[in-house]
Amino acid sequence: MAEHESLEFGKADFVLLDNVSMEEFMGNLKLRFEKGRIYTYIGEVVVSVNPYRAMNIYSRDTVEQYKGRELYERPPHLFAIADAAYKAMKRRNKDTCIVISGESGAGKTEASKYIMQYIAAITNPNQRAEVERVKNMLLKSNCVLEAFGNAKTNRNDNSSRFGKYMDINFDFKGDPIGGHINNYLLEKSRVIFQQEGERSFHSFYQSGINDSADFKAVADAMKVIGFTVDEIQTVYKILATILHLGNLTFGVDGDVTLIENTKLVSVIKDLLSTKEENVQKAMLYRTVATGRDVIEKQHTTQEASYGRDALAKAMYERLFCWIVGRINDIIEVKNYDARVHGKNTVIGVLDIYGFEIFQNNSFEQFCINYCNEKLQQLFIQLVLKQEQEEYQREGIPWKHIDYFNNQIIVDLVEQQHKGIFSVLDEACMNVGKVTDEVFLQGLNVKLAKHAHFTSRKLSPTDKSLEFDRDFRIRHYAGDVAYSVVGFIDKNKDTLFQDFKRLLYNSSNPVLKGMWPEGKLRITEVTKRPLTAATIFKNSMISLVENLASKEPYYVRCIKPNDVKSPLLFEPERCRHQVEYLGLLENVRVRRAGFAYRQIYQRFLQRYKMISEFTWPNHDLPSDKDAVKKLLQGCKFDHDVAYGKTKVFIRTPRTLFSLEEQRSEMV
Ligand code: ADP
Ligand code: MG
Repeated sequence: MAEHESLEFGKADFVLLDNVSMEEFMGNLKLRFEKGRIYTYIGEVVVSVNPYRAMNIYSRDTVEQYKGRELYERPPHLFAIADAAYKAMKRRNKDTCIVISGESGAGKTEASKYIMQYIAAITNPNQRAEVERVKNMLLKSNCVLEAFGNAKTNRNDNSSRFGKYMDINFDFKGDPIGGHINNYLLEKSRVIFQQEGERSFHSFYQSGINDSADFKAVADAMKVIGFTVDEIQTVYKILATILHLGNLTFGVDGDVTLIENTKLVSVIKDLLSTKEENVQKAMLYRTVATGRDVIEKQHTTQEASYGRDALAKAMYERLFCWIVGRINDIIEVKNYDARVHGKNTVIGVLDIYGFEIFQNNSFEQFCINYCNEKLQQLFIQLVLKQEQEEYQREGIPWKHIDYFNNQIIVDLVEQQHKGIFSVLDEACMNVGKVTDEVFLQGLNVKLAKHAHFTSRKLSPTDKSLEFDRDFRIRHYAGDVAYSVVGFIDKNKDTLFQDFKRLLYNSSNPVLKGMWPEGKLRITEVTKRPLTAATIFKNSMISLVENLASKEPYYVRCIKPNDVKSPLLFEPERCRHQVEYLGLLENVRVRRAGFAYRQIYQRFLQRYKMISEFTWPNHDLPSDKDAVKKLLQGCKFDHDVAYGKTKVFIRTPRTLFSLEEQRSEMV
């Protein structure tokens, strides 16, 4: 257990606190932050506090110090968790994953990059060219994704506006041979609207004027990854189109809706490789099927503006997904024959938006916070519940630790028929009036008695609900009031078929390829597209299933202050995060339990050389008896419990001493 650090830096593992109280926890966290120790363990969980300054702890030298070592041998570090995940994968042929959570600006994306960097540094000792190529692709793809998916916000100058899950595939030697990226819910509304002080996605500014060095880096990265010249050009044409769309305005002449700045239309038609009249028509008319007839209905200026914004958002989102798809084509595992090379294993890294409470919370925050409920549920399942269940299974006396199980909130959102997503989808399918208010009424009827749901209608005297249009959810991380305004629109996420046809009919094959559904004629468009909420829900359910099938490692990131200061540790701010990340419960369960456990036979394999009774072989009736004898000999018996199939060691210190004795022998 990080014995190399002296106590002036506080406890390297919260499990070692004298008393598990919020005060001691916060005291230790603050002390370590102030001493420049930004990482602390809870068993195998890394708690990280954003230092907001360059730390000299990620060098090649540091990598060497962590390579192949056991978790407790060195001071807490991301590298140690990356190494543990890598070792588990390599030694036991298991898929593992590293889940990084925390609020915006807490340091998740930086952490994921250091983890990738570590894995790249410790693999491919033989410098195989193909593996080097794959590693380079994986690192370069990050640069491109950040350019198109990140933006400056008030919380973070380089804020990821999408969720990312990345699998890295390894061959039987433990070298990376490919990868796959899943992206989740890009905040596409950012292309048409930004809060004061914020910007749109970085990609829009990397134009030779503002962020020109970055522009070059991204253009190079795209080239190296293997985007063709035509593809790269199309990307920039799409960005330019979106910028021009932002300036397009509509007016009326009599009862005719028209585009006011027609020069722009000419620019746009060139960028999109189409005809001017096609752009005009898609902007101003909508083709509708009425029975057997197909008619062209003119937009009002309001409808035309709505269509223009929807087009800009959809083009950007489609571009982003297309970029991810192209990167996946290039990094996917090729020519791997499992029959020859054995199973290929995976380390997944999840860097996804943390819990958000803004001044005004809308559909996006609702989805993001639901995502965090799902991940918290997974954490509970894996870390808290499984831990307790294992002790029961092994017959070890165990005092149950209480923790808040948030399943009830997950159900509130995603349950069939009664859940908020279902009520929303129902409201969207209404034949008559489809408004945000109808949605809110639906919620008020279906969820009136739910302990974690309320609204102005249901609690008229509640001062914290400011507006009639608000509903409030009691999340595991705190109360959040959401405004229903825009929920219906964002959920339906309508893009008129006319726009899809416009883009599909472009003579630029790259652009055309992004919009295959533009091929359909209006009379052929019968299926109702899935709503945004349904797509998001399904993607979250499959994400959680995927994570649950792997051996998880956790990094819990904490943001020390809201002003990006390296000196400031705001106690209240941090305490809130410690609370909602459930870290104290985590320590309690871990402490009430045991830091380390191992099957008897495996334990002997590793430590039998330190006892005369077990070296080279024992003659006791069972491995369990042999382990008992060994540990009694070392006087560690008091710190140990013997389960049915495994030995449990309470404190990391004991394990550390065993490791030391072992290394003296071998
Ligand atoms: P998140 O992804 O959680 O929103 P980021 O990882 O983008 O947050 O971190 C926000 C900023 O904080 C970074 O741009 C960087 O300036 C700083 N930061 C985060 N982690 C570290 C670190 N380990 N060392 C130095 N600075 C960091
Ligand atoms: Mg991020």
